[in-house]
Amino acid sequence: MRRVTVRRSPVHGKGVFALRPLAAGERVLEYKGERMNWREAVRRHQRYGIEGHTFLFGLSDGRVIDGSRGGNSARWLNHACNANCETVEDGERVFIETTTDIAAGEELFIEYRLVVDEEIDDATRQQYACHCGRAGCRASMLGDVV
Ligand SMILES: [Zn+2]
Repeated sequence: MRRVTVRRSPVHGKGVFALRPLAAGERVLEYKGERMNWREAVRRHQRYGIEGHTFLFGLSDGRVIDGSRGGNSARWLNHACNANCETVEDGERVFIETTTDIAAGEELFIEYRLVVDEEIDDATRQQYACHCGRAGCRASMLGDVV
């Protein structure tokens, strides 16, 4: 039985929702997509003008996974601070695991924590602003904000 589904989200665009109750620590999805460095990802978004930030996931080594290329339903996961899921890097693969019990019908969130290894200008900061409104919101989807 499928555990999650993709449908329209009240937060942003589409989102990923639980089809049945999930226990904390369940591995629900793999985050698939093409790996590239940050600069390449930004260049691509500027060229194609897509809402690319919602498809980017930052890896601990500074690269990102672009879920818009070769991705699966994990690319629809919205960002929220104090998210109910976390990403676990397992070798070259990345998995989405629940960090808390989640009720059927609830939306799943991860923290994007994009790492930028260059100076962030205002336009970039604006593009990656967080409006999740949850307690402790960091107001940014970037992992390291200067
Ligand atoms: Zn937030």
